[in-house]
Amino acid sequence: MSHDYECVIVGGGPAGLTAGIYCARAKIKTLLIEKENLGGQIALTDLVENYPGFPEGISGKELTLRMKRQAEKFGLNIMRNEAINLYMEGEKKIVTLKDKVDIKTLSIILTLGVKHRKLNVPGEKEFINRGVSYCATCDGPLFEGMDVAVIGGGDSAVQESLFLTKFCRRVFLVHRRGKLRAKEYLQERMFSNEKIVFLPNRVVKRIEGKDFVERIILFNKEKETDEELKVNGVFIFIGMEPNTDIVKGKINLDERGYIITDEKMRTNIKGVFAAGDCRSGSTGQVAVAVGEGCIAGMEAEAYLSSIKS
Ligand code: NAP
Repeated sequence: MSHDYECVIVGGGPAGLTAGIYCARAKIKTLLIEKENLGGQIALTDLVENYPGFPEGISGKELTLRMKRQAEKFGLNIMRNEAINLYMEGEKKIVTLKDKVDIKTLSIILTLGVKHRKLNVPGEKEFINRGVSYCATCDGPLFEGMDVAVIGGGDSAVQESLFLTKFCRRVFLVHRRGKLRAKEYLQERMFSNEKIVFLPNRVVKRIEGKDFVERIILFNKEKETDEELKVNGVFIFIGMEPNTDIVKGKINLDERGYIITDEKMRTNIKGVFAAGDCRSGSTGQVAVAVGEGCIAGMEAEAYLSSIKS
């Protein structure tokens, strides 16, 4: 069986794009497949403040565009499509696309990323795009002058609450516990922002409204009563789940569904690597995803040399 590519990268976030830069620069014939927009979670982030080299911060979109330009300069092929099946056994591997086209490759780098975890309460699914959102950068401007709730207690919930104060009249940060998980400096900014109202020890029971969200019903764990909170929007930031359905049962995953690799980003299948947020032990940081993408690209190159010789 001949092959179309020497390496196929599945997923176009920072890890995938960095792997693409390294592979393409090493003159490996490489295809990157992304089913949505390039950049993954970072493309939805308003301001990336902790990526080295940008002391004033950089928007996630701009950072993604720069990575894309850099990768394409070295000859990376980027395709917008969805990989729906992977055949990874043996030396020749096959990536099947949504339109049933098979792409034959010698190696695969899985940079599948993560998706937002759902609250799974009544009204969440029903009001998506009608007040329920998982992206403040995308939808925040739609809530100019309105009241919104943000659900969660981690870095994302706090950072996105701060971002939403640019548009919203008030931001209610609803957390299921008394103590936030978010980093101290984010909490300091949050507590000194008078537009943000912290509502700890509350669990969302349901989201209600007619055409759009009008209120949420919360269970106050301290008072053991239900409360109604009038809001026009609900932004849900309660963590992430890996996009690893495509490899379930085919590759070693940890108990939470993240791909297990060694320190060289090698999975249990020869010629298949994983990097970035979908990898067990990754940290959800762009700098880490970029570092892992770099290792995966270099290791794919080493693997390809080993099977050629
Ligand atoms: P996270 O750290 O996993 O936090 C998730 C939050 O949602 C927790 O507070 C958790 O509550 C809450 N939660 C989980 N399931 C829930 C449920 N069913 N109902 C209600 N609340 C629920 O997720 P994240 O904030 O998205 O951050 C993910 C990673 O990205 C982290 O490593 C974070 O450091 C990183 N990140 C960094 C930055 C930054 O450095 N500026 C910005 C964004 C994200 P409990 O606390 O009770 O568990």
